[in-house]
Amino acid sequence: MDLPEACERFVAWLDNEVVAAGRGDNVMTLDANPASIFWLGRLAPEVDAANAVRRERRLDPCAVGVRVRPKEEGSWSFHVRIGAVAWSKLDAEKWHKTNPVEVVVRVDFPSSDPGPFGETVIAEAFEQAGAAGLSAQVRVTDESWRGAPELVIELVNTTPESVRQRGERHLYEVELEILGLETKPFVLESLPDSFRYDRRMPAIGINCGVSQRANGHLRITDTIVVDRLRPEYTFDGTSPENLDLKFASLGTDPVPHVADLVRAYQAWGELHWSDDHLEHRYRSEGWKPEMLEQARRAASEYQEEVRRLHRGLQALEKDVQLRRAFALMNTAMARASHGRYDRWRPFQLGFVVSILPSFVDDGLDWHFVETVWFATGGGKTETYLGLLVLAAFYDRLRGKLAGITAWSRFPLRMLSLQQTQRFADALAAAELVRRDAKVPGDPIALGYFVGARSTPNDIPKEPTDFNPIDVDDDSMPARYQVLTTCPFCGSEDVYTKFHRGNWTLRHLCRNEECPSQGQPLPIYVVDKEIYRFLPTVVIGTLDKASLIAMQASMRGFVHGPAGLCTRPGHGYTYAKRGSQPTGCLVPDCQAPVETISESDRARFAPSFRLQDELHLLRDSLGAVDSHYESLLDSLQEQMTGARPKIIASSATLTGYERQVDVLYEREGRVFPVPGPSAGESFWSRETDKLLRRYVAVWPRGVTLEWVSDRTTTIVQQSVRRLLTEGHHVCQAAGIDPKFADQLLNLYGTNVVYGNTVRDVEAARRSMGTQVPVSPLNVVSLTGQAEFDEVREALSRLQRPEEKFEDRIHTVTASSMMSHGVDVDRLNIMTVLGVPLTTAEFIQATARVGRTHPGLVYVIHKIGRERDATVFSHFGPFVRQGDRFVEPIPVTRSSRRVLELTTPAAIEARRLFVHEPKSPGQRLTTVDLLRKYINMTGVGSEEEAGECAAALGISVSNHLAFKDIVKQLAAYFARLQDTGFGARFPNELFERDRRPMLSLRDVEAQVPVSDD
Ligand SMILES: [Zn+2]
Ligand SMILES: [Zn+2]
Repeated sequence: MDLPEACERFVAWLDNEVVAAGRGDNVMTLDANPASIFWLGRLAPEVDAANAVRRERRLDPCAVGVRVRPKEEGSWSFHVRIGAVAWSKLDAEKWHKTNPVEVVVRVDFPSSDPGPFGETVIAEAFEQAGAAGLSAQVRVTDESWRGAPELVIELVNTTPESVRQRGERHLYEVELEILGLETKPFVLESLPDSFRYDRRMPAIGINCGVSQRANGHLRITDTIVVDRLRPEYTFDGTSPENLDLKFASLGTDPVPHVADLVRAYQAWGELHWSDDHLEHRYRSEGWKPEMLEQARRAASEYQEEVRRLHRGLQALEKDVQLRRAFALMNTAMARASHGRYDRWRPFQLGFVVSILPSFVDDGLDWHFVETVWFATGGGKTETYLGLLVLAAFYDRLRGKLAGITAWSRFPLRMLSLQQTQRFADALAAAELVRRDAKVPGDPIALGYFVGARSTPNDIPKEPTDFNPIDVDDDSMPARYQVLTTCPFCGSEDVYTKFHRGNWTLRHLCRNEECPSQGQPLPIYVVDKEIYRFLPTVVIGTLDKASLIAMQASMRGFVHGPAGLCTRPGHGYTYAKRGSQPTGCLVPDCQAPVETISESDRARFAPSFRLQDELHLLRDSLGAVDSHYESLLDSLQEQMTGARPKIIASSATLTGYERQVDVLYEREGRVFPVPGPSAGESFWSRETDKLLRRYVAVWPRGVTLEWVSDRTTTIVQQSVRRLLTEGHHVCQAAGIDPKFADQLLNLYGTNVVYGNTVRDVEAARRSMGTQVPVSPLNVVSLTGQAEFDEVREALSRLQRPEEKFEDRIHTVTASSMMSHGVDVDRLNIMTVLGVPLTTAEFIQATARVGRTHPGLVYVIHKIGRERDATVFSHFGPFVRQGDRFVEPIPVTRSSRRVLELTTPAAIEARRLFVHEPKSPGQRLTTVDLLRKYINMTGVGSEEEAGECAAALGISVSNHLAFKDIVKQLAAYFARLQDTGFGARFPNELFERDRRPMLSLRDVEAQVPVSDD
């Protein structure tokens, strides 16, 4: 037995423990009413349910059953096996469980006896078990009016009101099995037909799950268990014997290996996408003609992708610089992996090759937005990194020796530190390779561009109310440590220190062997240092785009800096200001500045903008961002003559074409095109190994919070038994006891995931009182958590304490952790209510089971319609998740958003277009700006046209365009009104508006529409 198998068995055992606790299987006596304890397998009396409204009835149902499609037309004869227990309150404080009741009821339907069935035998059986007065019946309803034979078979608790008290009148541990009825599967009509997916379900559970056993019997289940299987990325034609995708080989001589990959993809497609093959599937899988058409269209998309890869290969063959950059990138990736892996997965390399045509041709290819789409956990980040490092080398080799190569944005407020570390590792490796290979230009470095809650915008000379950072505070630098290991040597002996001499907050490594040799590590975490040094790759939050309207030093994100300070270590300079008289951003610097010529400046502009988690750019955030994307593009295009290329990643393909069109005004392309069936493509296929077990839970009669707390309790108690009676547990689970320690390590921490911060906080609070497990160390990972708390928690999760009792046992988390948190030790999750979007469900649950089999409880808020719907088709929902992803609502023509973004266009144009043209330079006050406007004769209408263009609003969009004209007219009127009293240009907006500080400043919850 190997570890994966041990884990799989442990997950099965653990789930059994939780379900048994939910039903009360192993309990014989209780001190409290069982109706307030058990959440599975119970059945309320119908009279109680009848008094409740529909929603409440669902919360404590009085019936369970199945909806089936009999194979033959009626009449039908079959048997129903029923099992149950009851609880009796024998004295004031004690409840006792009765013996189990088992009854088999014969059903002839329709017949002279219309039913219900079995009432008498069931009542007798309960009486014999010592629970006189309880009764239940089997009800059968013919619903063949739906078009085909269809029966609903239910067990209903018919116990009357008077006989026993509440709690005693519920049935528990209820089982129901249909024997001897041949059925046909249902086809899930709510999903579109697709040749890729199987839409069949054997039966539909009513208030429960249903499973079909090998003998065809249908049996209800208390939870719905759906297993996702672990994918593999190399097999058959892509196995290592057939395809050498090692970094080392590609670093030496890339062309033949890339050619092999392209050839293998083509050969595979000639088999799986051939017309013969599709026709064969059409006949054997019973496709409709439309499905064959759909499959043929998909086959031509595949053909197009093969052609792209061929063009990528050709680019590599023809362009010497590209080939060298590609080889250096591979050498760097080998170095960055620190021996953890030594090769690409085929899809990762495929994606990089698919972008190569853009490098050599700034025509059509350049303008496509390329989206990488791959299941989470597939290695998307490394793919990104390969591309970035390649771009960095290519820039250097073709003469762009300084400036930002790529600006990579994440849509959340906080950026995952793990992600940052991986970026730093790759770029530091690239820097070492650059030194070895004597590639000219600035050192390759990373900028961490996030925002004041994590890292400083600026380190002031003296603390102020506005910026309380104190350079004399010795503990200050440590608060802003972003890296936990040295990206050069992997040592954990990394620290931060403020250097007064050139005013930098440095990351340093203490390891004497480190290639850094005591010099700063190649990462900048303070905004101002990012402006000063323009690191090769900048990663950060999307919100930072708002600075383009506020900060003249953002120039390096669309163009180049004004000059270079002659004092070593001061870096690039920007517009002159009172506080920075020469344009140098180091306080009090008076050193002369070496001007950078206009033509050299253009070369600094970024080649790429990257957008991670594209699907999160929706609603108002998407609307605002679409204007900022246009603004960035238009500034760069105006100053350099070109726009950057945009690369994105997304969790879903639903509607990405429209989304890309709205956000970037470009056409979109996706890689890879999905394979011909859901379980297999050239790039990956399912194995028989468990990836994640999803368990849908319908809390009956108790609150979701109670079930969550009980689940944590059972999970923690059960896992802890590995400490005290490991041998026993392993025996029960069928596991070799030698794995006990590893299992304790891998399953000792559970995650409780809430959809809102409020849910998460409530869960955390109740854990203190409702989970009788001690010690229980709980940490919270939400957007509310402080930066250093998150860093500490992640580092504890990755490197757990020696003793189990010192470790983190439970993590309560919100969507903040659904991106980029990658900890192998997180393998159990409880999700409190189905997340609002399917994309979030997919991403959040993908945080567990990344390397080892995971277990996910989805506790449904069953009173909500959406949760009830998801429960009813939980299997397809989990297996075909991407098909359930809702189209992303996004628009660029919201006038409400435009009102907020127009000031940004005005201000950005003042900083980057007008100020550089102004003979006296500075346009920082209303007086200076008025003088400039009057001198140059720039008119309000003309400027309105420019602003509209910068925001991507065309004249044909009459209403929106008119709004901009109006806003500009008012702005110009105030500018000319010397009595208006504004001192700074950003005070000239209506209603005290300012350019947005964050892209989320839109008042929350107001819907955004195409008005
Ligand atoms: Zn080091
Ligand atoms: Zn200086």
